[in-house]
Amino acid sequence: MKSIKIFAPATVANLSCGFDVLGCCLDTVGDEMVITLTQEPGVRITKLEGADLPMETHKNVAGVAVEALLEKYGKSIGVAIEIYKKIKAGSGIGSSAASSAGAVWAVNHLLDKPFTPQELVGFAMVGEKLASGNAHADNVAPALLGGFTLVRSYTPLDVIKLHTPKDLVMTVIHPQIEVKTSDARSVIKQKVTLQQAIHQWGNVGGLISGLYTEDYELIGRSLEDVIIEPLRSILIPEFKNVKEAAMTHGALGCGISGSGPSIFALSKGMDTATKVADAIRKVYNTTGLDFDIHTSIINNYGVKIID
Ligand code: ADP
Repeated sequence: MKSIKIFAPATVANLSCGFDVLGCCLDTVGDEMVITLTQEPGVRITKLEGADLPMETHKNVAGVAVEALLEKYGKSIGVAIEIYKKIKAGSGIGSSAASSAGAVWAVNHLLDKPFTPQELVGFAMVGEKLASGNAHADNVAPALLGGFTLVRSYTPLDVIKLHTPKDLVMTVIHPQIEVKTSDARSVIKQKVTLQQAIHQWGNVGGLISGLYTEDYELIGRSLEDVIIEPLRSILIPEFKNVKEAAMTHGALGCGISGSGPSIFALSKGMDTATKVADAIRKVYNTTGLDFDIHTSIINNYGVKIID
């Protein structure tokens, strides 16, 4: 029986200006999974540690994502999935995406890579649809491709891996509060003004240009969100103070990670990212809330085999 153990990375989606289209991959935060091809056909979640999540195949994002892959593969295959969760569900750093991306990546690897990374993104999106009701790709794309990614189009799916400047470091704070996805979605308006759209697509272009030219100042100027952040940030305690602390201590930019409650700050260099982490910690220490802080370089490969 063929088996591999993998690291399934956490991801930061949206990156301020790129709601539902931009994301990037973390290196030091992620789940572990063991994926095995079995004699008995069908997909089974055989172990799930570190979180209270459903083990039924059709209720677990890893299960439905692998089922989507096997349906396209067309041969009768058996897959056993062990999940060791380190990323808390609902944290806003791609917990569900790590499971679905990790599972399809590993099965594709064990089957000698019949599918392209782009096709894997499509299968993993079936998991995202189960998790949030919306088949978004801004977490699964960076988890599978690594680095920074852009979903240029959803129909047809067109995912692009962008350039990653080597000095970028991400600091993420995860306040241990529940922000219901339904609440995070309900505060968003379905219509934007032309003025907001112009502002936002200027920033998306600026951010992508900044990544390719390694212009850190331009990256910083472009990490601005005039559409979603003003509405969603009210759901996150101390958001304004965290952002102010991060920016005062040298971050290039700071915003909501995914649909929150995590907040990300992007910095140039580990020293600055560590100072930003300390400053954010001080803000949250005053709240009495539990929280985790992660500091990570950008992971340019995505899912990887471990052990
Ligand atoms: P995050 O905000 O960290 O990206 P999501 O909101 O995307 O987290 O996903 C969490 C939801 O997905 C929860 O409702 C959880 O029950 C469901 N889920 C199902 N299977 C998994 C899994 N293997 N890992 C994480 N979440 C899962």
